[in-house]
Amino acid sequence: MKVAVIAFQGDVSEHIRITQKAMKELGIEGSVTAVRRKEQLEGAEALILPGGESTAISKRLVSGGLDKAIIKMAEEGKAIMGTCAGCVLMAKEGDEEVEKTGTELLGLMDMRVNRNAFGRQRESFEAELEMEGIGNIDAVFIRAPAITDSWGECRIISSFDGLGVAAVQGKMTALSFHPELTDDTRIHVKFLKMAMEP
Ligand code: GLN
Repeated sequence: MKVAVIAFQGDVSEHIRITQKAMKELGIEGSVTAVRRKEQLEGAEALILPGGESTAISKRLVSGGLDKAIIKMAEEGKAIMGTCAGCVLMAKEGDEEVEKTGTELLGLMDMRVNRNAFGRQRESFEAELEMEGIGNIDAVFIRAPAITDSWGECRIISSFDGLGVAAVQGKMTALSFHPELTDDTRIHVKFLKMAMEP
């Protein structure tokens, strides 16, 4: 299994490390690669979009043509997981800040995001969440977005303070928080299992 991690900013090495750990737990052979050019996405069966700054990441995705390659992966039914800024980029709709900054969303999931929903209150915090299909998890939020609406095939599977913080649509997962910053592999294990589904 080849897993690609978009590597312009964010917790790239942490995502690589925890994905490798999850692969080991599942007994899967595979590679997890940091990707900056669209050619590097060839053959990837799963993709992670880490956090960072959504405007900066979107610019790099568009200028390198990775945006189109990622949209194609989604159309082909590959597993894609976006965390924090990655969650913002996966959405079809964003709040006025997304618009003001000219952030080009990939538009993969039927959901609306509020880019700095939690960051306005507190820069970063940890909270225990109940997540459908996973159970209780400790989640790390850093200037976190929220999923404020969903429709179509998209389903919110965890909320905090009345706002969506995790959603799934087919094999795509969007998370407001940073699962790569804990030692809990359950989310990455689930992501790999989705990637292996026919
Ligand atoms: N709110 C930030 C943004 O959308 C994301 C912050 C993060 O990824 N930690 O740019």
